Amino acid sequence: MSYSIIIHGGAGSSLREFITDEKDLKQIEKLYFDALKQIINFGKRLLQNNIPAIDVVERCCIKLENNELFNAGIGATRNKENKIFHDAIIVNGKTRDWGAISNCNIHKNPVKLAKHIMNKKNGLISGNENIKKYCDSYKITTVNSRYFNSKFRNKLDKLNNDLGTVGVVVRDKLGNICCATSTGGLTNKIPGRIGDTPMCGISSIASNQICGISVSGQGEEIIKNNVASKIFYQMKYTDKTLSECIDDTLENMPSNTCGIIGIDRSGDIYFNKNTKRMYIASADSKNNTNISLY
Ligand code: ASP
Repeated sequence: MSYSIIIHGGAGSSLREFITDEKDLKQIEKLYFDALKQIINFGKRLLQNNIPAIDVVERCCIKLENNELFNAGIGATRNKENKIFHDAIIVNGKTRDWGAISNCNIHKNPVKLAKHIMNKKNGLISGNENIKKYCDSYKITTVNSRYFNSKFRNKLDKLNNDLGTVGVVVRDKLGNICCATSTGGLTNKIPGRIGDTPMCGISSIASNQICGISVSGQGEEIIKNNVASKIFYQMKYTDKTLSECIDDTLENMPSNTCGIIGIDRSGDIYFNKNTKRMYIASADSKNNTNISLY
């Protein structure tokens, strides 16, 4: 039985655009490369050990959220008021259930909370006040928003860098396809903004019969273009492959706006972007592994 996994660390501008010192650049690139390698190997081991796709997606996404290199969880970027707010979603392609949170900075791992919400069949919950009530009602531990204060992210933000939204798509040995996307949103976003990330069918979509998708980039463009749904329904109603549908979708978007990862129902992996950079790592049961930063 075969399995496949692909993770991303966000689509956007390239480190090379704002880190001019070659030695610093190499050091930071190595940090990203090593983090992606470690997390893809972790996901691969889980799949080899028959952990269900939905749990592999959650656990890999937690690793990405806990790594301050990425614009999610602890490493989330700041809005115009210098505050961090997360958006996140998880989708189960077996049941088509999804759960999401937006505008929240009181849960250490937004994807974990999104999964809880999905399991309770609740869709999207937005805003700290509502999320606090939800967490209290299920005795879910919350954190003080001061927890989200990464020195590395503060440095990147000074360079006006919005790198690093994260996403995971997995197909397990039983053919279950699941995905998750988690972000701090765009750097300097206006307070209250909700991007594409927590929207089912826009940043993320999954069905065992079709594919799983996770998207990163400029939320407003991604919403305008219904990115995840466009790919999904083209695959459903035409003979086009995953790669053709992803490429078509990107061709019709302005440059520098979007990056997409996906896995189809037979386990084939594909990603593409119209940005300068998208951190990617993928692996499958045929021993193919790929890690790329640009
Ligand atoms: N799509 C996210 C948003 O607009 C940001 C990103 O993927 O980098 O909030």
